[in-house]
Amino acid sequence: GIVYLNGEFVPASEAKVSVFDRGFLFGDSVYEVIPFYRGVGFRLEQHLKRLRHSLSALRIPLEKEWQGVLDELVRRNGGGNVSVYLQITRGNAGRRTPVYDEHMTPTVFACCSPIRDIYAAGADNIAGIRVIVTTDLRWHRCDIKANGLLPNILVLQQAREAGADEALMIRDGVLTEGGSSNLFMVSNGVIYTPRLSSEILGGTTRELVLELAREAGIPLQEADLSYEQLLGADEVWISSSTRAVLPVLEVDGQQIGEGGKGPLWLRMYELFRQFHQRLMSGEEL
Ligand code: PLP
Repeated sequence: GIVYLNGEFVPASEAKVSVFDRGFLFGDSVYEVIPFYRGVGFRLEQHLKRLRHSLSALRIPLEKEWQGVLDELVRRNGGGNVSVYLQITRGNAGRRTPVYDEHMTPTVFACCSPIRDIYAAGADNIAGIRVIVTTDLRWHRCDIKANGLLPNILVLQQAREAGADEALMIRDGVLTEGGSSNLFMVSNGVIYTPRLSSEILGGTTRELVLELAREAGIPLQEADLSYEQLLGADEVWISSSTRAVLPVLEVDGQQIGEGGKGPLWLRMYELFRQFHQRLMSGEEL
C-alpha cells in the first residue's frame, strides 16, 4: 500500500527511517489508531485531541492539519474500511543521546490496513471473547498513547497463550484496562468503568460509551473496580476503536453472568450502530 512519511505519499517498500530516529532508539514516540469507514474517519476529532495531549506531554511541538493528510492517505489506499496508524517520533538526532534538542524535526509516519466494519456485522455476528486478568506492569503515564508497548505486548501474549483474546490489568487491587482496550462491567443495570486517571488511556470508544449511555438514560458510574466485582458482574465488556464494544464471556476461565452476550451489551451495541449509521448518512455529530 501507499504510506505517508514526512510530507510524502510513497509505496511502503520505499519508506525509510534512520536508525538514529529516537522512536527506534528510545521509543520517544506517540501514536494513534483511527478507524475509517467508507473513507470517513470515525471519532477523528477525539483521536486528534488525544494526539495533541500525547504530543504536548512529550513536549513535541508539532501543529499540523491532520485531517487532510489522513483523508488523502485513505483515498490513495482505495477508501473503504481501514484503520489508520499514525506515529510521530521526536525525530532523528543523528546520534544516540537521551537528552534531546528542542528544535528537532519530528518524524511523521502513517499507514493503513483493512478492517472489518464491526457495525455492519450485526450483533449475531459478533463473538464474545475470553480474557485473563494479570498484573499491570506499566508506568504511571498510561494517559499518553506512547509507543513503549512492551508491557502491553507481554500481557497480550500471555492472554494468547492462555487461549484468551485480551488481558485485563490490575494495579494495587484496582482494575485498570485491557492491553489494548478499556473495561466496562454491568451490575444490577448500572454500567461501571474505571475512572480516568494517568493509570489508563482515555479511550475514544470509552468516551462514546459514556456519551451514548447518558443520552439513553442508562446509569453509568466511573469507579475503582476490584477483581471480585469483575467476577460477580452480570456483564463485562471491553471497548476499542476497531472493536467497538465486545462482550466478555469468561474471565480467567470463569463464566460471567449467564455466559452469553448480555442485554445491556446488546443495547449499547445497537446505540453504537445507530450512531455509526447517522455518521455515515452525513449527519454532523
Ligand atoms: N487502552 C489501551 C491501553 C489501548 O491501547 C487502547 C487502544 O486501542 C484503548 C484503551 C482504547 O482506546 P480507543 O477506544 O481510543 O481505541
